[in-house]
Amino acid sequence: MDRRSSAGVAAHVADPFRRPAVDLRSDTVTRPTAAMRQAMADADVGDDVYAEDPTVNALEAEVAALFGHEAALFVPSGTMGNQISLRLLAEPGQEILCDSDAHIVTYEMGAAAALFGLSTRTIPGGRGRFELDAYVPQVRPPDWHTVRTAVIAVENTHNRGGGSIQPFDELKALRAYAAEAGLSVHCDGARIWNAHVATDISLAEYGGLFDTLSVCPSKGLGAPVGSLIVSTRGRIASARVLRKRLGGGMRQAGVLAAAGRHALHHHVARLADDHGRARQLAEALDGHLNAGPETNIVVLDVAGEAHTLAAAARDEGVLISVVSPTRIRLVTHLDVDDDSIDRAVGVLTSLLGGAPGGANRAAR
Ligand SMILES: *Cc1c(COP(=O)(O)O)cnc(C)c1O
Repeated sequence: MDRRSSAGVAAHVADPFRRPAVDLRSDTVTRPTAAMRQAMADADVGDDVYAEDPTVNALEAEVAALFGHEAALFVPSGTMGNQISLRLLAEPGQEILCDSDAHIVTYEMGAAAALFGLSTRTIPGGRGRFELDAYVPQVRPPDWHTVRTAVIAVENTHNRGGGSIQPFDELKALRAYAAEAGLSVHCDGARIWNAHVATDISLAEYGGLFDTLSVCPSKGLGAPVGSLIVSTRGRIASARVLRKRLGGGMRQAGVLAAAGRHALHHHVARLADDHGRARQLAEALDGHLNAGPETNIVVLDVAGEAHTLAAAARDEGVLISVVSPTRIRLVTHLDVDDDSIDRAVGVLTSLLGGAPGGANRAAR
């Protein structure tokens, strides 16, 4: 990291006279490990716009097979993966139903509407959890008046829901209902690896429930860049056209795909460690816990103090994210080890007064 390019946080991280920060803001902050960088350096590459990059092709084939689908496409980001998927399943003027806190309607800059003329209708759910009974009455059949519901999208695990895992029985019921109602089903699976590791439900079982999935090696798996769309051969051929139209065609992208392959081969099972560390954080701070962590995300309620707390924690070298003025989020990942957890617990308990035994409870 370069001091010149860095205000605030980055400067803090780069300061050689301070211990490196414990960065719990997101699992997107991971940096490639030495072994991953070696795999990137060694990657065999070609022009992926010509579909001639052997490492990209290998990653695509491997991910398609993992999810039990015919094909996959490497794209620069999860946002592009989600939005291309939605466009594959819906025509302009049709609508998508999803949770009101879904990443596709919260953090993707209105892309479905802005780029593809898709409308979205959102349904509130506890921690983003899908419940078929809440969606069925909202589905509009085709007729001369109404907007046609084309897709139901679910997020697994759910980011703003605090890493919550979608109930598998509800997803199975959704698949059956969608087949009967003539709808398509998309999964924003940026963190589907976390759901897989936490539940032992295989990626292929998850894959079998969806028409399209977008999955990200660049979250807790630790790859620097890249996501994949998983679907049928026909849809992936269309996705390739949309990717190029959006400027997402990359050339010698094998250096990035190599990082994704390394992440898949070495960093999936270890997500269990991240889940264990999230539980440790939750236990130490349980007086403020919003809901028990199911995977690698811990959400804490901190009255109106989220911004003050984040600033104070940063001064102590612990970076956290502010979800709202009353809520903070801590995310464990590849670059957070046991020492990082001890340090974060020390700093946050002293700031929050949530130390075990309540020693600091009166302090703030
Ligand atoms: C991070 C994330 C994405 C993709 O984000 P990009 O930054 O575009 O790669 C998609 N969905 C969820 C739930 C996410 O957390």
